[in-house]
Amino acid sequence: MVKLENINNISLSDSVINLDHGDPTAYEEYWRKIGDRCTVTIRGCDLMSYFSDVNSMCWFLEPELAEAIKELHDAVGNAATEDRYIVVGTGSTQLCQAAVHALSSLAGTQPVSVVAAAPYYSTYVEETTYVRSGMYKWEGDAWDFDKKGPYIELVTSPNNPDGTIRETVVNRPDEDEGKVIYDFAYYWPHYTPITRRQDHDIMLFTFSKITGHAGSRIGWALVKDKEVAKKMVEYIIVNSIGVSKESQIRTAKILNVLKETCKSETENFFKYGHEMMKNRWEKLRGVVKESNVFCLPKYPEAYCNFFGKTLGSYPAFAWLGTKEETDLVNELRRHKVMSRAGERCGSDKKRVRVSMLSREDVFNVFLERLADMKLIKSIDL
Ligand code: PMP
Repeated sequence: MVKLENINNISLSDSVINLDHGDPTAYEEYWRKIGDRCTVTIRGCDLMSYFSDVNSMCWFLEPELAEAIKELHDAVGNAATEDRYIVVGTGSTQLCQAAVHALSSLAGTQPVSVVAAAPYYSTYVEETTYVRSGMYKWEGDAWDFDKKGPYIELVTSPNNPDGTIRETVVNRPDEDEGKVIYDFAYYWPHYTPITRRQDHDIMLFTFSKITGHAGSRIGWALVKDKEVAKKMVEYIIVNSIGVSKESQIRTAKILNVLKETCKSETENFFKYGHEMMKNRWEKLRGVVKESNVFCLPKYPEAYCNFFGKTLGSYPAFAWLGTKEETDLVNELRRHKVMSRAGERCGSDKKRVRVSMLSREDVFNVFLERLADMKLIKSIDL
């Protein structure tokens, strides 16, 4: 039997592998090679104040992070940053809640309905229900939504979990009733072709899924409307009195290295990430084809303005389905693979979300286990 090792030298051959969360450890190897160029030294006397820029509306945003964010979006061409407020958050998780809060508090009537088209990112459900706010109410699948009154649609593109390119699905003649929060966590060239410079009122981004530095917990929102940005800032003040400066400084440093190397032939992170994701997807598609019981979505090719050529999509999650009547999350669990149940994403038992961003050795174990799987019919019809 092949001996499978992870970097901590623990044998993987019998252990349960967790591909439920999208923990982006796949990129560690790249950053190891980059070495000390991303090292940040912080002395005991540094970064002690709550404040970063007292003249800015988002006074806890480090100016060098704001600059790095603008320059990176400019270099990649995926989003407009001009005439917008940047709001930094403890991950885009905090910003999504801040945005829902801001839009709801500015709406004429409450509770404001919150919807997302299924299959949706399951965390939106927890984010909008956990604190039992009276200002907004999770109403589930946007495809079925027909309630009157103000609403917020969460649009994730490329979508988590299924990798599709998304637009709004709720169409109301009275535009004032509907607000949209665009979650562009995966709108970066290693996952999908950059076909346009996004230019929406509220756009969320996360450091976690660009470079893999999820542990820094940094996200940012690009917000057109001043009142909305103000309310988001207020929410973050009440929630955490700002965002860690150590994390912001480290993020700025890494985003600068990302920008500096992103035109390089040898060190381009996006090229590295793109090749890695393409390779993983090709291997996964190979196993799925051989198996004859699994299925995966197909993605159209498109011209990528960043790479200057036509390319496919290689999402951060595989939206794995089965042709059998089976509870796929349990079947995978029997084979020591943890995944996210389709039902949690507003879909069904025959689908699961599997992270494509694990370390290489874990990914290879997943492929081996998938190839070995024989499914048991388990859904009562
Ligand atoms: N949005 C989407 C679509 C995501 O997949 C994630 C991470 N799983 C997030 C937001 C949150 O990212 P973070 O809080 O790490 O910035």
